[in-house]
Formats: sequence, structure tokens, C-alpha cells
Amino acid sequence: MKSSWRIGRIFGIDIKIDSSWIVIFVFFSWFLAGSYFPKAHPQWSLTLNWVLGLVTSLLVFASVLFHELAHSLVAKKQGEEVSSITLFILGGVAQIKEEPDEPLKEFAMAVVGPLSSFFLAIAFLAVSLLAAPAGGAVKEAAFFLFETNLALGAFNLLPGFPMDGGRVFRSIVWKITGDLRKATRIASLVGDGIAYLMIFLGIVRFLRGDYGGLWWVLVGWFLHNAAARGYSQVMIKSALEGLKARDLMNTEFETIPAGLPVQSLVDDYILKKKERVFLITVGGDLKGIVCLEDVRALPRGEWPQSPVSQIMTPKDKLLSVTLDADGSQVLAGLAARDVHQIPVMDGERVVGVICRSDILRVLQIKSDLGV
Ligand SMILES: [Zn+2]
Repeated sequence: MKSSWRIGRIFGIDIKIDSSWIVIFVFFSWFLAGSYFPKAHPQWSLTLNWVLGLVTSLLVFASVLFHELAHSLVAKKQGEEVSSITLFILGGVAQIKEEPDEPLKEFAMAVVGPLSSFFLAIAFLAVSLLAAPAGGAVKEAAFFLFETNLALGAFNLLPGFPMDGGRVFRSIVWKITGDLRKATRIASLVGDGIAYLMIFLGIVRFLRGDYGGLWWVLVGWFLHNAAARGYSQVMIKSALEGLKARDLMNTEFETIPAGLPVQSLVDDYILKKKERVFLITVGGDLKGIVCLEDVRALPRGEWPQSPVSQIMTPKDKLLSVTLDADGSQVLAGLAARDVHQIPVMDGERVVGVICRSDILRVLQIKSDLGV
């Protein structure tokens, strides 16, 4: 099943909807139409409740999109590349290619998110107040949107990384100490603390019979993972500092035919010759690259009958780097396409290949040496 759909493009940024978004959209509409509006206006018809519920839900997600667009536009203004914004079950996420390289940039990029939500909250409150004399649907919907945007802005201001507030906090510590790693460690610890607190409070709420507690557990779990991931990204980046593609790459690689069964690749090349990277060419043209990770991803039972062309990462999926690309560019190239390998080019020629495992090996050696 396709996991996300592209619904449009704003300011050159692809807007996507993840399949998990449907769950939260249905939940919001159902909550509004089945509970929120009927409680305020028992006399309203079912149709009115549902129409209003669906429209309000859409506006909730337009609000989330507005928040992410605010981050993205500031990022773009600072010269960062923003490829997409994806709405999913827990809100939205903007795909910004590089982390900011200065505390002030990070501060601006992060703080604008909650500010945009507060701006929307005030705007919806104004609409709600203006519509109040009529006392109708607009007033109720706008008031709900006021509450939601206020909560969205406030929640995002919590000072734990990777929430916006955590990024603001990190940028301040970064500015004061001049040390991104230290700042990230502190902000991630606070983020983790908030995550565990949410999980704990969620469980307490659930045990008291409030099913909304499960939601807190889910959000807490997500934050915990995101904090850990954000932290390890920064650690890896700083460990790779000063290393170029030429230091990381494999220069020993063999060319194999596309029809070679995976089993023979393992038996005759990987085990016998201790090689790890293979180029697949047809008539001299590069078609794809296979790393150990690609082999591992295929179930063992399928090795004898599957040709290597089936597991290779095709050339058009790969980004390439030059010999002098630095470690963080290599990482960005691997992450951007979610592939296991990246070819290193000298002009038109492949002179090396960097696999994810090569990066892990470098990190392992550095940590063994204590550097
Ligand atoms: Zn945000």
C-alpha cells in the first residue's frame, strides 16, 4: 500500500498526506460532529454537525500546514532546501535537507512555528468573537480552532528537543556554549524527560478510565524516539567532521553480471573474496550497485533463484558525490534517497562507493580509539 499521497505544491514544496493522517482526520471529524458541537447546540441537525465537523477538521489540518509552512519558508529564506511537508497522525513534518549551521538560524526557524500557531489562534478568536452575536456555526467552529491552535503552539513550545521549544532551547545553549553537541545533549535529555512524563501521565489517565491517555502515550513514545534520533544524528555528524568521501569510500569493487544469482554472489564473491560492493553493468553501462545491506534485506530462501538485478539499488535512485564531498554531504545523500550506498565520482567515472556500513565502521573505530 502506498503510504503517502502528494496533494499539491506550495512555494515549490510538495505537500503530502501520510496514510496515518486519515485516522486522525476521521477521529477529529467524529469527535466534533458526535460530541463537541452537539454538546454546545443539542438542537443542531446531524447533517449540520457533520458538515461543520468535516470543515473544521480540514481547517485544523490547514492550521498544521500553516505552522509547517512557517518553518519551511524561514528555512528557505536561509538558503535551506525544503523538499516536502507531510501531514501525519501526530501533526506535520517539514523535510528540511540540512540542519541549520548557526544558532540564530535555528532559533528563527524553530520559533516561527509556535508563533504562527498563536497568530492563527488570535485570528480564529477574533472571528469567533465577531460571529458571536449570531451565535451560530461559525462562532463554534472558530472557537474550536482557536483552542486547537493555542494548544498546538503551547505544546510545541515545550523545551524538549526535537519540539520547536526544544530547538529554541538548544539554539540558546548552543549560542552560549558554542557547542552544538553539548546543546543537543541537554535539549535531548529534557525532551526525553518530557516524553517519559507524557507516557507516565498517559498511563495514569488510562488506568483511571480515560482513553485519551493512550494518545499521550503515543505522543510520548514518538517524542522519545525523535529525541534519540535527533541526538544520534548530531553525534554522527560531528564524528564525521573533517572526513571526505575519499576517506570513507570502498575502492575495491567488482563488476558482476545482472543475471548472477544472489546465492553465487554470496558464495563466490562475498565469502571467498571478502568483497562488499558490486557494480552491475550491462554492456559497459552502470545499471546499479549492490552492498551487503541489499543482500541482507532479501530472505535467505530466495537467494538461489533471485538475480542480483532484483536486489541492486538502480542507478537512477542513487545520488552521487565527488571525492571531496564531506561526511555530512554523504550522509545527506544516503538519507535523501533512503538507500544503502552512494557512488563517488571522479568526473564521469565511479571511483569508489560508500555504503552505510562503511560509515558505521568509521564511527566504530573512532569510538574504540576514544576520539
Ligand atoms: Zn513546529
